[in-house]
Amino acid sequence: SIPLGFFGGIGAASKHGILIKGGNYLEALKNAEIAVFDKTGTLTEGIFKVQEITPMHGMNDNELLELAAYAESHSSHPIGVSILKAYNTPIDYDRIQSYENLPGYGVRAVIDGKKVLAGNEKLMQEEKIDYINDKFGTIVHLSVDGIYAGSISIYDKIKEDSKLAMQKLKSVGIHSIAMLTGDNEKTALDIAEKIGIDNVKYDLLPDQKVAAFEELMKMASPKGKVIFTGDGINDAPVLARADIGIAMGSLGSDAAIESADVVIMTDEPSKIAEAIKIAKFTNKVVW
Ligand code: ADP
Ligand code: MG
Repeated sequence: SIPLGFFGGIGAASKHGILIKGGNYLEALKNAEIAVFDKTGTLTEGIFKVQEITPMHGMNDNELLELAAYAESHSSHPIGVSILKAYNTPIDYDRIQSYENLPGYGVRAVIDGKKVLAGNEKLMQEEKIDYINDKFGTIVHLSVDGIYAGSISIYDKIKEDSKLAMQKLKSVGIHSIAMLTGDNEKTALDIAEKIGIDNVKYDLLPDQKVAAFEELMKMASPKGKVIFTGDGINDAPVLARADIGIAMGSLGSDAAIESADVVIMTDEPSKIAEAIKIAKFTNKVVW
């Protein structure tokens, strides 16, 4: 039989839908000790369903959804994409005078000459908008010209594979698993608990994700490697910082797929344990 060599390992991985971009990452995977995850699109499907629309000041549900869709119409964030999908009506781009993405917060836009904000509690606090927070889930708060306009609560399903993926990681020698997210505390803890992750950091801005990741890296042994798996939206710096940066192939941003060390073509987190297994087997045969 043909020994499973370096390229054999990469080839074996590719048959499982795991793209490993070089032998050095195969070697690193062999020594993986810690696995850190982004939430949206990584452990969850990244496709949010609208749960509840709560308009204020005489607006109706559809008017608030329209406002959100116009605010998000230039967004590539899973939240923005999902809101546009829920609105499901062509956008008249002439109504949008400006758009700005606010990573970790939401978006800012000028629509029909009015200043519109769409984003999380942090954004409302930052902009001193009097908001109401009595909903559960991921919440998109909206304001028009500084006045609170209501909220849209949205829900993203956990990937079917996520829970099993954590168990598999432990069986291939991963001793710590953590989740880093920009989402709120309640949603973050709820999702992490359902998946079986007890180390969770929430409400993180993109640069805070890097700091939290560096803190986790300290838990690795001198030769131990740390994996980060994300979708590249608001977490590209962490993907770059990790010993092994893993991106999801179909949900990940183009930049993430390009800069990642490993790409999971099927978007299934359980493939990470598969990759580690292949790496360990490959090394046994070669060295
Ligand atoms: P995650 O860690 O879940 O991948 P991000 O860092 O991408 O999240 O975003 C953090 C939070 O910022 C989101 O949970 C959301 O509250 C808010 N946010 C980011 N982008 C948008 C957007 N386009 N519209 C509304 N809210 C957004
Ligand atoms: Mg993200």
